[in-house]
Amino acid sequence: MLGDRNVTVFYDDVMLGHDPRVDVPYIPSRVEKRVRNLLKDLNFKWSYPEHPGRLKAITEHLAENPIPGVQLSAGAHATYDQLARVHTNTYLDHIFSLDGQNAWLDRDTTAVSPDSIKAATSAAGNAIAAVEAVVKGEAQSAFALVRPPGHHAEPVRARGFCLFNNVAVAAAHAKAKLGCERILIIDWDAHHGNGTQDIFWAESDVLFFDTHVAAPFYPGSGFLDEVGAGFGEGYTVNVPLPESTGDIPFERAFRDILIPAARHFEPDLVLVSAGFDPHRNDTALNLTYDGFAVLTSIVQEIADEHCEGKLAFVLEGGYNLTSLAHGVHAVLKVLAGGDVPVLEECGLKEVRAAAEFHLDAFGDDE
Ligand SMILES: [Zn+2]
Repeated sequence: MLGDRNVTVFYDDVMLGHDPRVDVPYIPSRVEKRVRNLLKDLNFKWSYPEHPGRLKAITEHLAENPIPGVQLSAGAHATYDQLARVHTNTYLDHIFSLDGQNAWLDRDTTAVSPDSIKAATSAAGNAIAAVEAVVKGEAQSAFALVRPPGHHAEPVRARGFCLFNNVAVAAAHAKAKLGCERILIIDWDAHHGNGTQDIFWAESDVLFFDTHVAAPFYPGSGFLDEVGAGFGEGYTVNVPLPESTGDIPFERAFRDILIPAARHFEPDLVLVSAGFDPHRNDTALNLTYDGFAVLTSIVQEIADEHCEGKLAFVLEGGYNLTSLAHGVHAVLKVLAGGDVPVLEECGLKEVRAAAEFHLDAFGDDE
């Protein structure tokens, strides 16, 4: 029943301070010049899609539609040493040197504003707080509502709106400080989690499972045969999908690939890189809110079966504000013990309702 399970949502207003200005000069590159030239004479204003309104939409929707069992909390900023478990010192020193500035970090997407570094350490710190809460038994599950997102950030570079790899920082903290030895990371964002894959590529104590739109869709990685290397061979599981993939094949991927992989691996902690851009209203893919609810319930079953329900979500992408806010809400409801819908092919439910509505007109009664 809704409210049977307690869920802590980790969030801090500090993360709203990350607000890159797109009119700041880019790092020089040919791609940038070409795009600038194309846009120059058009009456078109490009704005940074990963903006503070994303978190506001989620928290406002949650405040207006509270869920029994869900409470809010704030985690501390991640420290340099906590970040250095997955990023190089050279990279961290560069990022911290940008504190207080406006700058572009890569040629495609990632930029910072004066308060971005504080937002980014808060994002990683709130992911750590979510993991601590579930491992220490203070919450049955947790959801870190964070930005900038993390799963594209590599050990040595920022990519795809991401500065620090929040979920990887949280997993590394769980290994180093909380006694976790086998961590399952599930990434259902529409984009491949190249950074997370990279960080744990050669490790056998982190199993990385990723569903995403197949390359050449951004970031262009996540092929079926990318399975890890060395001790980590077999501990990276990619499921590349066509752009129109919806609820039913997603459920199959989770039931037919993820569940057996988890049984084999026997995780002692389950983390989810939860992007909401697979929603049908967003960038790609065709998930519905019911789809997110069912995937959440499968992940919860895995955590219940293997590690007393220790489960923490970390927000990644999701740029349509409505589907982002409602998608997070659908996930939180399941985490809090709410009902789980049964999935069926898109449109069937509507056809049944329409049939019920119309069929009277063709009846024999009159
Ligand atoms: Zn994404």
